[in-house]
Amino acid sequence: MLLNSIIITMFACCEFDCFAFLDQRLEGKVALVTGGASGIGEAIVRLFRQHGAKVCIADVQDEAGQQLRDSLGGDPDVLFVHCDVTVEEDISRAVDATAEKFGTLDIMVNNAGITGDKVTDIRNLDFADVKKVFDINVHGMLLGMKHAARVMIPSKKGSIVSLASVASVIGGMGPHAYTASKHAVVGLTKSVALELGRHGIRVNCVSPYAVPTALSMPHLPQGEQKGDAVRDFLAFVGSEANLKGVDLLPKDVAEAVLYLASDEARYISALNLVVDGGFTSVNGNLKAFED
Ligand code: NAD
Repeated sequence: MLLNSIIITMFACCEFDCFAFLDQRLEGKVALVTGGASGIGEAIVRLFRQHGAKVCIADVQDEAGQQLRDSLGGDPDVLFVHCDVTVEEDISRAVDATAEKFGTLDIMVNNAGITGDKVTDIRNLDFADVKKVFDINVHGMLLGMKHAARVMIPSKKGSIVSLASVASVIGGMGPHAYTASKHAVVGLTKSVALELGRHGIRVNCVSPYAVPTALSMPHLPQGEQKGDAVRDFLAFVGSEANLKGVDLLPKDVAEAVLYLASDEARYISALNLVVDGGFTSVNGNLKAFED
């Protein structure tokens, strides 16, 4: 009895990370992450590995993807496949390579995305750029859902998680095409969740506020650039955030994706999980409750 109490107290007093090995939330699962070589995708790959998943990194950046694979121990649990999500054969091949190597596909993360040109005047819109944004952000994610479903339907289980954005909820968080493309990701998520629900497959998306990555940092207004790219970015987006005192980092987004991918979310489907500290749900402009 006394020994039990001592052990329980020891567990309670220790840092959570000491017992990370007890918390393998994706043990035995196989995942594919598009755009997994850098940014939020890289954070998802690293967190998934930490939680015991076998992971395929699918990206157009061969060197970065292979380096990440090697940094995680490489074979037999991590695979890199060159994949341009706008090319259907590439996605099909990445899904097949994952299933062949690891025996199945439990989790598909449609993460690859771009913002497109920073045009705010619709009269100057370059339609070729709009098409490129839709090709990656919408068609690429739809193709990811299509080929993941092909493997998941026979096994009657699976979780598909796509990266949307706060730009899926409100306007003004990115260029027009980006905003439209992210709204489309939510629509696709709901539509495909309806179809795949009968096969036991869950389909969700995650919508982060601004995270410092190669995609977002170039959009920092020039007047806010003071010499340290990440710090300047965090200071700027932090000043506009609803939740103060916390920086939103790639790992925070990966944690939301991990939740939806894991069995802890086994009854959650068609959800747009907004990771924004309340940013898109509040508006204090009227200052109605201020003295
Ligand atoms: P990032 O630019 O840092 O990384 C994107 C990754 O996708 C890169 O590794 C890149 O090589 C890859 N990629 C680009 N085009 C590809 C293609 N055609 N095929 C395969 N891979 C391709 O971007 P990020 O910030 O990590 O963004 C990841 C996702 O999160 C995107 O869908 C983005 O819209 C979304 N998001 C980002 C933010 C943010 O503030 N960074 C906020 C909300 C949503």
